[in-house]
Amino acid sequence: MAENQTPGLVCAHHHLYSALARGMPAPPKTPTNFIEILQQIWWRLDTALDANTIEWSAKLGALEALERGCTAIVDHHESPNAIEGALSIIADACAEVGVRVNASYGVTDRHGPEGAAAGLAENDRFLSEGGRGMVGLHASFTCEPDTIAAAAEMAAKHGVGVHVHVAEGQEDSWQMLSGHTTDDWWLVHGVYLPDDHGLLGTMIHNPRSNMNNSVDYARPQRFANPIGLGTDGIGADMLDEFRVAFVRAREYNVETTPDDVWAWFEPGWALMPEARTDIVSWSYSPMDPWRLAYSPGVSPTKVEIDGKVVFENGTTTYVDAAEVRAKAAEAAQELFKKLEATP
Ligand SMILES: [Zn+2]
Repeated sequence: MAENQTPGLVCAHHHLYSALARGMPAPPKTPTNFIEILQQIWWRLDTALDANTIEWSAKLGALEALERGCTAIVDHHESPNAIEGALSIIADACAEVGVRVNASYGVTDRHGPEGAAAGLAENDRFLSEGGRGMVGLHASFTCEPDTIAAAAEMAAKHGVGVHVHVAEGQEDSWQMLSGHTTDDWWLVHGVYLPDDHGLLGTMIHNPRSNMNNSVDYARPQRFANPIGLGTDGIGADMLDEFRVAFVRAREYNVETTPDDVWAWFEPGWALMPEARTDIVSWSYSPMDPWRLAYSPGVSPTKVEIDGKVVFENGTTTYVDAAEVRAKAAEAAQELFKKLEATP
């Protein structure tokens, strides 16, 4: 690999469905804490999603990932009124753009036992049909113990981990996960976990999202778990997330090095090893973490996935980026209309 190149970057926790949320109408009530952000923003948005908006949000999110040198996405999806088939829509949308994806449906009991069963069934269907993914759980505080046990069992059956939000807010009763986790679980956030929580799996750190939600700093380096890096749905510009992660870690502990934070890409590459063979050429050389930590604005000039050029000369090669943006903007208008009608 040349000095101006890196492997394909991996976003270890994304919500592609959030791609159309930008510009959404203001909620009926302004949220004042993390739970209200979920209630007023995300839990209203996810109920308004349908097959069309899932498809265009995924295409737009995948396109934006590629444009920033991210070739693999670990997605966590929820659309309570359009569950069946949702993961295949996302996988197909990403394939059309050329981006690798690991998909999971975030099972929850927020919509009763039928909702939880439908979510579990969607994970099972997708994985049984050969889809690449994990079994998703929203978070233990919105799940019944039986649902958590069922997800753990299903994941073990398919030989994959469970992708779950953990202790993002103080209200999250993460203790319910104890005894279920294994090394292949994907534990997202961990902000309010004690250092000796005993959960197994990779801890996925999303520094920009945590700051945006005004939750505390997760201090991921205190955990024995491997640490991965995600955006939690705020795009997939992983070089940018790396810089944010670095400066936030540095604010907490000035001895943190760029190499320490660059190592947080490793779990994503371990989960999606083909991304290591993807080649991203950048506008900067050499692509050394110590330089990149202090170099905003570095951009890809060419992206090759699986030996094929998917981005070059400022645009994608598989899809017409302008057309994807135009169709996604139309879908966003539909979504906004539905949201305006959502209490
Ligand atoms: Zn998330």
